Amino acid sequence: MNIAHLLLGSAREFRDLPALARGEAVHLTYRELWRKASVMSMHLTGRFGLARGDRVAFAMTNCVEAIEVMYAIWHAGLCAVPMNAKLHAREFAFILENSGARLCFVTPDLATTIAEAAREAPALKEIVDVTTRSYGFMEVGDPVDLAEAEPTDPAWLFYTSGTTGRPKGATLTHRNLLAMTLNYFADVDRPPPGGSILHAAPISHGSGLWSFPLLTRGAVQVFPESGKYEVPETVALMNRWPPCSLFLAPTMVKRLIEHGSVSDLRPDSLRLVSYGGAPMYVADLKRALDLLGDKLAQLYGQGESPMTITHLSREMHADRAHPRWEQRLASAGRADSCVSVKVVDGEGRSLPAGEVGEIIVKGDTVMAGYWNDPEATARSLRRGWLWTGDVGAFDEEGLLTLKDRSKDMIISGGSNIYPREIEDVLNLHPAVAECSVVGRPHPEWGEEVVAFVVARDGQALGPAELDRLCLDNVARFKRPKDYRFVEALPKNNYGKILKTELRKLL
Ligand code: AMP
Repeated sequence: MNIAHLLLGSAREFRDLPALARGEAVHLTYRELWRKASVMSMHLTGRFGLARGDRVAFAMTNCVEAIEVMYAIWHAGLCAVPMNAKLHAREFAFILENSGARLCFVTPDLATTIAEAAREAPALKEIVDVTTRSYGFMEVGDPVDLAEAEPTDPAWLFYTSGTTGRPKGATLTHRNLLAMTLNYFADVDRPPPGGSILHAAPISHGSGLWSFPLLTRGAVQVFPESGKYEVPETVALMNRWPPCSLFLAPTMVKRLIEHGSVSDLRPDSLRLVSYGGAPMYVADLKRALDLLGDKLAQLYGQGESPMTITHLSREMHADRAHPRWEQRLASAGRADSCVSVKVVDGEGRSLPAGEVGEIIVKGDTVMAGYWNDPEATARSLRRGWLWTGDVGAFDEEGLLTLKDRSKDMIISGGSNIYPREIEDVLNLHPAVAECSVVGRPHPEWGEEVVAFVVARDGQALGPAELDRLCLDNVARFKRPKDYRFVEALPKNNYGKILKTELRKLL
């Protein structure tokens, strides 16, 4: 079972529908994409001498060629190592070395960086720039059959975004990716044939993972020509390729709804914004629902169980009349259909509704382990359960509320304080553009709460009014003892706030 059979199926079913688009222009139809991936796969095994299971990395700013490369890799029975284009040379070097990739595809902007990184990756034999003749030549030849793969063969090494320490390569098998795809249809959406997926976020992460379900439904994968997330371009492309589905990080949803050009979005252009990867604050979510309509679905997942742990469905977002609508919006929804999810104590015993513990997951989406890292694997996978490192609680309805990463929890005077709860309150203030709460060591209390706050467009904001807001909304002991007003918050390449960096500032 090779995950690339999805493309073969779509090439048969959707033949002349567009499969890839560069901005407004069609790049390849489904039949052409299948043919190209198939011919390229022959070059991978022939010219480059790669054999089943070999790793092929790519470092590319979002572009159509990235999808060609991915499906060629799988067609040949090889394993893809997608790397975020914004990583540092040292991080590229680490991933190339750790994965043992033998070949790496690049866009020209990254050619020099990867050449530098390659010095530390002895297994890497060749770098192919997708704008050169060497890449163009990979189109020459005849298609070959899809290579066989076992469901347990590694298909995608998903290097974690590394908000702490060095990245780890979650090994995703063909079965993991297929289960994730089916789960999309079960819990997130089953779009009608056609439509589009707009890759506004890096395809080395969620947007690329959603390529499978959308490709299965014959959607065109659209790549903004800027290679970036620009709201006016995103809106124009949604209007050009309706109905459009897209994956956005919460900060990207916020940018979308705060930009004037969102009013140019035609009602039928958008099918679904699935958001996740970081907390989305209720105030922002309500604004998004007002502006975009009932077209939002949340997912909670991690590289180790791609896109699949819990989901808050479109219907739950839309059910404003429900007495617990707000609590529902603040949650990450119900367990996904293809996994079991538990909240447990340190010994792995299930906790009753309302009690906070670590979230663990079991099912066909759970990774095989971390590539080349048996110790980290043993810490995360115990008796088939993935220990997510996330802390949360189920409620009586079976909805999971995420508190924080276990290591971000603040313990002050023996009480647990979850930063997200305080961030939710601070975000209610209209002059707060962004904020993040961390713990600072304190001789008497163990830790005390400190809030980093970014004010909206130079608006005046002082500690007194934020303190008032906290006093009105959370227990006294949870309020920040110090407010630090900053220009911006440190973020990683997926837009996640780096609390480790904030703690260093303290
Ligand atoms: P990554 O492996 O880079 O996708 O990061 C996964 C982590 O992002 C999870 O372990 C959570 O801490 C966080 N995360 C993912 N989805 C959500 C969500 N819907 N709400 C809050 N945090 C999330």
